[in-house]
Amino acid sequence: MTSTQSSPLEVVAVRAHRHRAPLLRPFVTAARRTEAVEYVVAEVELADGTVGQGSAAETVAVTGESAATIAEALDGPLRRAVEGARGTITELSARVAAALEGATSAKAALEVALHDAWARSLDAPLVELLGGRVGDGLMNDMTISLEDPDVMAAHTREAVAGGEQILKIKLGRDIDEDRKRLAAVVAAAPDARLRLDANQGWEPEQAIDIIAGFVADGLPVDLVEQPVAAANIEGLARVSAAVEVPIMADESVWDAADARRLVEADAVDLLNIKLAKTGGLRGALAIADVALEAGVECMVGAMMEPRISITATAHLAVAHPAITLIDLDPPFWFASDVPAGGYTQERGWMRLTGGPGLGLERLTADVDPSGADVPPVPARPGASGGVADPTGGGR
Ligand SMILES: [Mg+2]
Repeated sequence: MTSTQSSPLEVVAVRAHRHRAPLLRPFVTAARRTEAVEYVVAEVELADGTVGQGSAAETVAVTGESAATIAEALDGPLRRAVEGARGTITELSARVAAALEGATSAKAALEVALHDAWARSLDAPLVELLGGRVGDGLMNDMTISLEDPDVMAAHTREAVAGGEQILKIKLGRDIDEDRKRLAAVVAAAPDARLRLDANQGWEPEQAIDIIAGFVADGLPVDLVEQPVAAANIEGLARVSAAVEVPIMADESVWDAADARRLVEADAVDLLNIKLAKTGGLRGALAIADVALEAGVECMVGAMMEPRISITATAHLAVAHPAITLIDLDPPFWFASDVPAGGYTQERGWMRLTGGPGLGLERLTADVDPSGADVPPVPARPGASGGVADPTGGGR
């Protein structure tokens, strides 16, 4: 353990504020349509006055957490676990992990805030404390929402004109429709690479046929994410063995034990790590360590989350050698991509900017106001509210 890892931190306050961010255009998958994201910022203050921040977005369909439950966990058991506590970053992270069952997004928000504060108190970029270097970049992708083929083609042309070279496509539930959509995307961007995400949509035999069809169509597919149900490890292994296209686990991997089961079963070629599933950086690093040992590569992804979460995930990605792929486009969907700093992206290449902690400016409570703390105005009969899809944000 290095001296920076073992220098104790004293947490004097934990705060949480709720925000709501409209998206530039709806994020559409087979399961839902998201027009605005409800998110929560966790803030920790150390005895020396250093403040760190982390964030989490509502993803009821994936983690079971709404903005309200995230805020409740942060104001309750998570705050009690670390407020007034003194310990190393490892010890404080362990307190967060043990504070309650589940609540992985809320835990990630607080655990990232602690890491941001820790690195700021040492005046170092977080990535360096995790073993990486600020200057290293990774090639990001851009998700094309599930729309009619001509709309997807238009969005694709826009993305490649902006320098994107890797496109992520969420597949629907009708494979014939999907083939038309994919043909339209490829026609609009013949040089782009594709990442396809089935979100558990298929049975193993069906997945094998469909993926073989993509290969026969000559589609430039780099990987297929979660073709079958999360719990069907044997099915994942069957698909991986039968097709040449690399298969990635997403919904099947939440922690290091899941990762170990998957690699021992030789079930997948790739693992998708998200802080909202792992409960923060320590759990994510544990998965990446399993992958490194097994010779499996990882991608980092995220829910439809704001820039703080994405920047923390980028620090993680750059820090760990097993993480070679990133799927971190959510901030490009936000109408107000705040706070400033953290990273830059040019022609698909994402690079950390350095600076203490995550390298971000502090996000104040008045930015992206949610109205959650204001008494609600009674709805008029028949009025349509601009409320975010309560299941939204899952990716
Ligand atoms: Mg996925």
